[in-house]
Amino acid sequence: TRKMLVAGNWKMNGLRAHLADIAAIGDAAKAHPGVEVGLYVPATLITAAAERADGIFVGAQDCHAKSTGAHTGCLGAAMLGEAGATSVIVGHSERRTDQHESDADIAAKALAARAEDLSVVLCVGESLETRDSGSAVSFVLDQLLASLPEGAAADWLSIAYEPIWAIGTGRIPTMEQIAEMHGAIRGALAARLGAETAAAMRILYGGSVNAGNAADIFTLEDVDGGLVGGASLKAETFGPIITAA
Ligand code: 13P
Repeated sequence: TRKMLVAGNWKMNGLRAHLADIAAIGDAAKAHPGVEVGLYVPATLITAAAERADGIFVGAQDCHAKSTGAHTGCLGAAMLGEAGATSVIVGHSERRTDQHESDADIAAKALAARAEDLSVVLCVGESLETRDSGSAVSFVLDQLLASLPEGAAADWLSIAYEPIWAIGTGRIPTMEQIAEMHGAIRGALAARLGAETAAAMRILYGGSVNAGNAADIFTLEDVDGGLVGGASLKAETFGPIITAA
């Protein structure tokens, strides 16, 4: 009963010249009304993308934990919502690393987004070192439970499992590893939020998703869609991933 969600994360890519790609992705999405499709674009493109977005939602890649104030260069959730975003990513590993965001910061950002009626995709994922040490599952569950905002509910929050070593590398975990991690995440959500919420909450996989591997990944029981980086920039590569869902 969980609706599949296939979302593109454009990261620091996209100028007005790429708005045509957004329209083409919307066209691809309209052919699959059973799949929810969204694009997390740079903040500078949110308004123009939202004006053109037909068949997809437009989201932001981060928001500040505070609504307003003396935070030069940052954007609050109300600003993103007014610009046209209906959703926001929090806790992407690139921000955890580059901007030194803590689990507590990320939980606060999620709550701030929720307060402005934005849906949230909360990202978690282990490094290669942690994977090789054999402690990926316990690491990710600790990170998830520490980043999970109060009042987390399936109608506004989704989880994205993105192993850092799979992002932009062309390398993905085995199907067994993805199934194990997603099952463990759902189990941890059930323990924290109750079985009903956990059963309804979407858990996306992210990291080198492409047209060739998406169908296999999306077949796994606890995988409810994908968060796609590089392959989401063009309808030619993103369209087949939407179709696979
Ligand atoms: P790639 O699909 O480019 O590996 O990026 C994944 C990602 O980080 C999405 O948030």
